Amino acid sequence: MMEINQAYIETLLEQARAAGIREQEAALKQAEAIPEQLNGVKLSDRDIALLLQIRRPDLLTRLFAAAGAVKDRIYGRRVVLFAPLYVSNYCVNRCVYCGFKQSNALARRRLSFQEIQDEVQVLERMGHKRLALEAGEDPQHCDIQYILSCLDAIYSTKLDNGSIRRVNVNIAATTVDEYRLLHEKGIGTYILFQETYHQPTYAAMHPSCRKSDYNYHLTAFDRAMQAGIDDVGAGVLFGLADPEFEVLGLLLHNNYLDRTYGTGFHTISMPRLRPAEGMELAAFPHLVDDRTFERLVAIIRLAVPYTGIIMSTRESAAMRDRLLRHGVSQVSAGSNTDIGGYKKDAEQPRVPAGGQFELSDERRPDQMITALIEQGYIPSYCTACYRQGRTGDRFMQLAKTGAIHNVCTPNALLTLQEYLLDYGDPSLRQLGASLLEKECAALENAPVRQALKQKLHRLKAGERDLYF
Ligand code: SAM
Ligand code: SF4
Repeated sequence: MMEINQAYIETLLEQARAAGIREQEAALKQAEAIPEQLNGVKLSDRDIALLLQIRRPDLLTRLFAAAGAVKDRIYGRRVVLFAPLYVSNYCVNRCVYCGFKQSNALARRRLSFQEIQDEVQVLERMGHKRLALEAGEDPQHCDIQYILSCLDAIYSTKLDNGSIRRVNVNIAATTVDEYRLLHEKGIGTYILFQETYHQPTYAAMHPSCRKSDYNYHLTAFDRAMQAGIDDVGAGVLFGLADPEFEVLGLLLHNNYLDRTYGTGFHTISMPRLRPAEGMELAAFPHLVDDRTFERLVAIIRLAVPYTGIIMSTRESAAMRDRLLRHGVSQVSAGSNTDIGGYKKDAEQPRVPAGGQFELSDERRPDQMITALIEQGYIPSYCTACYRQGRTGDRFMQLAKTGAIHNVCTPNALLTLQEYLLDYGDPSLRQLGASLLEKECAALENAPVRQALKQKLHRLKAGERDLYF
């Protein structure tokens, strides 16, 4: 049974904090070997605890370089884009940090089938293909049948060439039976943040509510796996407890799932605490500063090279651009955390939204795509693995053989081409066209290059949704 041994993490950290630079350097050398031997070198728990102690600027530079090299080897320059869709702000929980907590007097509502279609159409008009469905926890107003009907509404909404091809689901921990229903509906990743792995902090942050039970929350992925969901995404809310404890908690949880079910986290989300209604940031003693946050991203990238790292618009544009270099592989764009917020914003863009927490990076997807291309990245809306059933250990096998490069880069380019044709303005089309040409020419595998060229032509001729 899953458990996070609190004393074990405390001891690892105490020993690492007492260790000297020589031990930090030894752990760093181990980390520096990873890019060259991706499947041969693995960091131990002690290595990770030591890497978390690095502060000396020259060692930090090496740490960031190693993380950047791992990212290049596995993800190349692809960056996956998605948007959250908040369907309900009903919530019976009392999470101290959250704007949706039960004690906040806000207008509670959930979207109707029609309202979901309206939201999805706005998202499709922005070019989105991947969504993360988000909801508060309320068994009465937002039960599993409602969530299943939301998924039907999302998948069935089409606007011109727009369609949502993958919906990840971020809803409260639930039972095996309900996870089975989600699995049968065809969700992408089931996402659940532990919020904090530090048990006393967890208890303080979730006072007397359904979410109070640390162990029930922690074992949610076991129940999801038993229900057939092999694609799970974890996260902690950085700012609640000691971030070094949290990184070790995340990685122990990942290793447990890997040992037990043959596959660890598909993604790790890295939210940092943001201001929200009914809470003051000043009341949280473990807020994570930018420099520390960069280190955490780099260490997670090195510890779990094949796990996607997700960065939301809670982070500023400048910070997200920096973190992409250290290991982030997925970003949200044009996000809104208000219920019905996309339509509201499309109709009255200047009215401030009343969402779950304040956002920081407010770039629209087209601005984000332009920025990514200008920085040398390949924006991707690819959903091919999920749709071909390459999830869980099958995805990991593909990733670990390196075949991912012959599949993911061409797929990213195909989705970029679709975006440019359907949603790009003339200047973005021009920028994108030269990226496509350059990346196509750079593909080493000649048959793949040829097949990609053909598919790009077919997209231009009007076909859609082509992938390898
Ligand atoms: N209600 C479900 C739950 O709590 O698991 C679904 C997810 S909730 C809509 C999404 C996530 O938002 C939470 O897991 C939490 O980590 C994050 N969150 C809540 N308040 C936040 C804040 N003030 N700043 C940043 N993230 C926050
Ligand atoms: Fe509800 Fe989730 Fe917010 Fe907690 S984090 S109050 S469960 S929406």
